[in-house]
Amino acid sequence: MNHYISYTKKILTGKARITDKQKFSVIIYSVALVHVILAAIFGYFKIIPLLTFNSISVLVYLSCSQLVRREYFWTVYCITYFEIILHSFVAAICIGWQSGFAQYIIALIPVGFYICYTMNTQRRKMVIATGSALFATASFISCKILSFYTTPVYELHPAHLELRMYIYNSACTFIFLIAFSLIFISEMRLSSAQLKHQNAILDKLASIDPLTGLYNRRSMDVFLHQAIESGGGFSLIMCDIDNFKKVNDTYGHDFGDIVLREVAQITQQQVSTNGYVCRWGGEEILILINGSVKEKTGRIAENIRRNVANHVFELNNKWIHCTLTLGIATHKEGDTVEETITNADYNLYCGKRNGKNMVVT
Ligand code: GH3
Ligand code: MG
Ligand code: MG
Repeated sequence: MNHYISYTKKILTGKARITDKQKFSVIIYSVALVHVILAAIFGYFKIIPLLTFNSISVLVYLSCSQLVRREYFWTVYCITYFEIILHSFVAAICIGWQSGFAQYIIALIPVGFYICYTMNTQRRKMVIATGSALFATASFISCKILSFYTTPVYELHPAHLELRMYIYNSACTFIFLIAFSLIFISEMRLSSAQLKHQNAILDKLASIDPLTGLYNRRSMDVFLHQAIESGGGFSLIMCDIDNFKKVNDTYGHDFGDIVLREVAQITQQQVSTNGYVCRWGGEEILILINGSVKEKTGRIAENIRRNVANHVFELNNKWIHCTLTLGIATHKEGDTVEETITNADYNLYCGKRNGKNMVVT
């Protein structure tokens, strides 16, 4: 019971999706239950045609569970659709229009759209749903015309039985409509949550470099232009691993990848929330530090250099040391992003020429 309540909660809050099998099982068992109650009422009042019709309907719906199990959803939908329409006609002929059986035909329209739209397998969903909605409308009007020109075969005794029957039929119809509306809304919520989640994953995939986990160049371009637009000033640190070709050539490309990944981790740890770190290309890392904080930028760059130099890189019982050279440039008002990058690159180049493993401001 607790499981049932928590599952219902999940469905209504849009956290769980009901499968087509569950959906159709709920439909056929609910409709079968309505028919069991009707069969009992008609049996009690000895309205034999409706007793027979409802008893057969109950058997048909119970055997539909086999069809649901085999996923013949379309057949089950057609059986339910035509049974409800036929039942409304038989009821109108036997006990008249006033008992409200034709209301079930109205409920067929939104339920039909819901079923056709959410069914995974059905193609041309909208055509089928619209066609069955039009046919249901025509059936409803025909049922009214038929009962207008004919006298009911049975007269209901006592007189208020007709009112009770009307209330029962209205209640069942509205309960179906409310239940389907709730499920429909919850499915929409679930779909939109899934879409948001997928978009977030795609966004991440498009902005992150898969090897290092750092932002890629595309994301950095966005951050750089945001920094320019904010007008708050920023500094750039261009980093390049020293003698990296030699690492690849001596220890293999896999070891090179490990060095690159661990250098990225160290850099990210040192920058933390002070800015953005991106893999600019190859083994070059570009860091954006927000704000006009020259000393802080220099300190961060020096910490990165020292931590990389002290780090031991390891693969298959081979240990090596690596170093980084870093060039810093502070953005000057009026300069373009490209000019500031060129300045940082130039300082990096100076560092390489003057012995590497250093920070050049
Ligand atoms: P320098 O000290 O002057 O920077 O010398 P260097 O050998 O590091 O020269 P350079 O910066 O030009 O080297 C770039 C090398 O980086 C070439 C390329 O093989 C290597 N590389 C680029 N991307 C990757 C990568 O994703 N994985 C590995 N393992 N190596 C890469
Ligand atoms: Mg390089
Ligand atoms: Mg290099």
